[in-house]
Amino acid sequence: MTQSEDLFDRARRVTPGGVHSPVRAFKQVGGTPLFIASASGAELTDVDGRRYVDFCMAFGPMILGHGDPIVRAAVTKAVDKGWSFGAAERTSLELAELITANVGWIDTVRFVNSGTEAVMSAIRLARASTGRDKVLKFDGCYHGHADAMLIRAGSGLAGTAKPDSAGVPESVGRDTLVAPLNDATAIATIFAAHGKEIAAAIIEPVPANHGLLPQTEAFLTTLASLCRKHGALLIFDEVITGFRLGFGGYAETSGIEPDIVTWGKIIGGGFPVGAFAAKRHIMDLVAPLGPVYQAGTLNANPVAMTAGLATLRRLLDGEIYGHLETLGQALDETMRPIDKLTLQRRGSLFWLASASAEATIRAPDQISEETARAFPDMFRALLDAGIYFPPSPFEVGFLSAAHDESHIEQLGRALA
Ligand SMILES: *Cc1c(COP(=O)(O)O)cnc(C)c1O
Repeated sequence: MTQSEDLFDRARRVTPGGVHSPVRAFKQVGGTPLFIASASGAELTDVDGRRYVDFCMAFGPMILGHGDPIVRAAVTKAVDKGWSFGAAERTSLELAELITANVGWIDTVRFVNSGTEAVMSAIRLARASTGRDKVLKFDGCYHGHADAMLIRAGSGLAGTAKPDSAGVPESVGRDTLVAPLNDATAIATIFAAHGKEIAAAIIEPVPANHGLLPQTEAFLTTLASLCRKHGALLIFDEVITGFRLGFGGYAETSGIEPDIVTWGKIIGGGFPVGAFAAKRHIMDLVAPLGPVYQAGTLNANPVAMTAGLATLRRLLDGEIYGHLETLGQALDETMRPIDKLTLQRRGSLFWLASASAEATIRAPDQISEETARAFPDMFRALLDAGIYFPPSPFEVGFLSAAHDESHIEQLGRALA
């Protein structure tokens, strides 16, 4: 029995499924989840002493790699000063100043503890701002686990929806509309029918939680103009893409400005942080200035803020994004001759699907069944070759500043 197997046995006795977040259980790949003992640079070491090149990178926060020495030094220094005050303090101010100074179209930002909380609060804010209840989301996007977002497309009329988790009331589904990705006609139909009731449309501008499903700029522009025309707000959920596709995320690289943006993952440098931001006239509705309640005992925790601040400062000059794009292009080259797989990539986000007839897969119904069927074998072969991928066919891979071309070559050899 390996140490991981032994620990997983113990964990299952005291935790549902042995894990604290479902994808960690390896259900989609089979076998026992690895228990990780430590991580450094682009590498994980499990409790049995095996080392892996990590292309999961904690599902996104670790853009600098694991154990970045500058972040580590800053965090250590912060801990020396105490780690939770429940009071105003300087680090969150500096992080807010850094972000608002460098993301041109937002005025103010509120820090919370997770991407889920950021989305939950953004939706509440959009509803308060418009005086409307309905929210339009897209099939194939993930926005965390708030009730209003655990809703999927129903059968029947365009836009209808039903709970995607037990415990979410049917009544919540009545205020959520679900549209297909990459389908401008469908969203026009939904806005024609419900335009006056829609508080906001929320989308991952580069959907990266059900494979990587890049949308065309034309589609996102159509969505933005439908929102404007009908008085709905546009929310970009950039929890994964924010500070990754560029400092200002997709909104900056595309020039398409949402009304509200949500962030998470990188913004906390690997500690629990989320945030939502918008222009002043919207954000001024948030308590204590306005009537939209939002609070948190651990909001803007100084240690987490320090990790975020140290991480974002490293990203500001753009050098790391250049390195990540160079690595991404090396990955393109490496994958080109491997016929059985299709690589989809935006910057340092990538995803491997089985060979596809589509030039670009843009919606869940274009993903072949073979992609999920073939994944477990590929995942195990990669583990055997010392490479750790996210343990699901629908999670994307991440490149970090700590990766180099030798890691890409190692991946290429393992997949060939
Ligand atoms: C990860 C993610 C979330 C949820 O963030 P948590 O911190 O896991 O709650 C929400 N939206 C998107 C786009 C994400 O990638």
